[in-house]
Amino acid sequence: MSEQDMSGKEKVLFSKAINPSNIMPKKLTLDSKIKFRCHPGVSCFTACCGGIKIILTPYDILMLTRRLDMPAHEFIQQYTVPVYLEKTDMPGVALKLGEEDQRCPFVTPEGCTVYTDRPSACRYYPVGMADFHEGGSESSKNEEQSAEEKFFFIVKEDHCKGFEEDKEWTVREWRADQGVDVRDEMNKEWLRLVMRRKSYGPQASLSDQAKRMFFMASTDLEHFRTFIFKSSFLDTYEMEQELIDKIREDDVELMLFSFKYLAATLFGAQVMNIKEDRIKAKVEEIKGRQDESVLESVRDYETIKAARDLEKNQIK
Ligand code: SF4
Ligand code: SF4
Repeated sequence: MSEQDMSGKEKVLFSKAINPSNIMPKKLTLDSKIKFRCHPGVSCFTACCGGIKIILTPYDILMLTRRLDMPAHEFIQQYTVPVYLEKTDMPGVALKLGEEDQRCPFVTPEGCTVYTDRPSACRYYPVGMADFHEGGSESSKNEEQSAEEKFFFIVKEDHCKGFEEDKEWTVREWRADQGVDVRDEMNKEWLRLVMRRKSYGPQASLSDQAKRMFFMASTDLEHFRTFIFKSSFLDTYEMEQELIDKIREDDVELMLFSFKYLAATLFGAQVMNIKEDRIKAKVEEIKGRQDESVLESVRDYETIKAARDLEKNQIK
């Protein structure tokens, strides 16, 4: 799998992946004040839309394919390059930059042509968020408590003149302005899958089949839907009819369901149940295999015994 070399430059998506030299050492809360403004009048306008890796989340891909009115597989082919996520073996995609200018395919001198559907990483920049629950299981704490376990930080790059602007706002106001709350909600479980994989380290390997499933579900919901409805999936897993109807019609529901399915298949999370008759059939199959191996041992024993008896008779 090839990867565009960005020398470690990446718009903030995975909080722990960015180059620490860019991060201002101060931990911020939602109420911390930041002085920043990005607008077409800054001398660096669109400077951050090139020479950088922009990882796409499943929701980013969904929004961009809707915006461009193209099937996911075409979008993936035309606009992305394959990457490994967070230095794990989990395959993902990043925006494919122009070969010569290393610029985002959606940037023009006037700005971003997909602005209202721009990827999550473009929205988060330059305010990153770290969540102590990344990679772990969701606790039973309420929203307020878990918000307290998040903190924010600024990624400051020399070329970015937005910090010289006069506008001051809280992190909360900045995030609301950039529409990151919906993105957070949509990306949360997917980011958690990647961080969980990362926390297991390289010694725990994922099968090729698991990696292929992760990639397909993360990048191409149309194919994932075909997999659900055209394979033995619905005969295997217990699912409420209401959920089946939702994921048949609604892409966002399907995406959120895919995260659950991946958590169950990749990490054994107890979020999906296999149907009783499937379990019975599997048990019978295993028992059958065991019976067959017992019979095989008996046959081997009989063969060896017969050979020994023959030998003994010949000696006599
Ligand atoms: S998607 Fe838009 S905001 Fe993001 S890098 Fe490309 S042009 Fe810039
Ligand atoms: S470099 Fe900073 S100020 Fe300049 S366009 Fe990008 S975010 Fe805005």
